[in-house]
Amino acid sequence: MNYTSTRDKKVVVSASRAISRGISAEGGLFVPTSLPQLSPERLNRLAGLSYTGRAADILGDFLDGFSAKEIQNCVEAAYTAKKFGEESITQLAKLGESTYMLELWHGPTCAFKDMALQLLPHLMTESVRKEGEEETVVILVATSGDTGKAALEGFKDVPGTEIIVFYPEEGVSPMQKLQMATQEGENVNVAAIEGNFDDAQTGVKRIFTDPEMTRRLAKNRLAFSSANSINWGRLVPQIVYYVSAYCDLLSDGEIRPGEKVNVVVPTGNFGNILAAYYAKHMGVPIGRLICASNSNKVLTDFIATGTYDRNREFITTMSPSMDILISSNLERLLFHLMDGDDKALRALMESLAAEGRYTVPDAVREKLQAEFFGGYCSEEDTARTIREVFEQYCYLCDTHTAVAVNVCRQYAEQTGDTAKTIIASTANPYKFPHSVLASLGADAGGIDEFEAAEKLARLTGCEIPPQLLELKQKPVLFTRTCRKDTMDSFVLSALGIACR
Ligand SMILES: *Cc1c(COP(=O)(O)O)cnc(C)c1O
Repeated sequence: MNYTSTRDKKVVVSASRAISRGISAEGGLFVPTSLPQLSPERLNRLAGLSYTGRAADILGDFLDGFSAKEIQNCVEAAYTAKKFGEESITQLAKLGESTYMLELWHGPTCAFKDMALQLLPHLMTESVRKEGEEETVVILVATSGDTGKAALEGFKDVPGTEIIVFYPEEGVSPMQKLQMATQEGENVNVAAIEGNFDDAQTGVKRIFTDPEMTRRLAKNRLAFSSANSINWGRLVPQIVYYVSAYCDLLSDGEIRPGEKVNVVVPTGNFGNILAAYYAKHMGVPIGRLICASNSNKVLTDFIATGTYDRNREFITTMSPSMDILISSNLERLLFHLMDGDDKALRALMESLAAEGRYTVPDAVREKLQAEFFGGYCSEEDTARTIREVFEQYCYLCDTHTAVAVNVCRQYAEQTGDTAKTIIASTANPYKFPHSVLASLGADAGGIDEFEAAEKLARLTGCEIPPQLLELKQKPVLFTRTCRKDTMDSFVLSALGIACR
């Protein structure tokens, strides 16, 4: 299987090239030229395997040029019971009769990003070796909070890599900030930037595509790559957990073979829900894909109208990892919905860059609406949902997952659809202790994140993950803030390259 660029179909690269480069030279994203198929028999067979067995089987189809043994090694190094708490790696919690919370946050950093970022460094170093590239890989990350820490944990001290993370100064929770500021490792660097996530992401993309930066790195035997979900190596591990969740429902007898389930995803950059879309088109019986947004509801509006318009106020919410107005991975979905019309897609993306908006043709909007339902949830409703879910089921969900639960309920009310539903649960609630505490009606003022976490634990009886508790003892190692127009000089100095 090969990969092509969303903005130029003449580009055809191998899996290892797509992963080692991260983004195509002309700015497009790599997409697979075909999708492997999961027949009912194959799903049934996968249901009998462990998580690592399922992952190795599915990755095998996407990673031409990797041997079965190489894939096995990567998967077994990434998904261990030690790092994810249990052999099952993910967990399904049933709420009521027909809703399953797919808990993707049992990894080292307590967010679903670990599912991809524990595996990506292994895929990346293997890819670089296969491509015969001898440069040190410099991973540049723009984070809305969770990607940064997960990428730092994944790449720390990985030979042949350097990692630099930018997070928005005012856009992440105190716990998220502390997770990054205390990161250990010889090859890591972290800076806050003045601005929001979109500023960070745009800055990183600009550095990637700046020929002068590329040249200066090359002179020092360095080359950029990406650990953001623009990298295909981030998406393919995410496809696995949707397939795996369906297999779990089958083997637990919760669904009949072939029974359709809906999937709800709290969405920001559109990576997670896009992985569910791929799983569906590979043959997992998925009905509706439900795209849940917070008050930054650019995707809700897009699904409703066919017009994507980022010209609006950026709202800082209690679900910061979804505070995004430019959802990068939508470009991949549009490429598929437009039957690979790279020229038309390039025009849309140029319009987004120039005017901050574009409108897709009616036929594309209709296809989009046939597969996706879009909804959003206000701050008040997010808080109310956290409280209601706890009161009703004694289940504590984080601020992002609560957005998904709320939109899931809106969907059921509006459509009357009673299909069983998987909700992607994307973070542990203790990453956002102040917001979760306040949502439950408790006073969260004047206390730090650890006091808030302890108060929340007393109130709910839910355990604080040890990897968050440990942060209290760790020294803060990174305190730099840079302006968005000086990100490039921060990168050069972090890499020890003189600034001219
Ligand atoms: C990153 C993140 C999201 C959004 O996921 P996308 O793949 O960017 O759509 C949702 N919830 C949490 C907790 C996250 O960290």
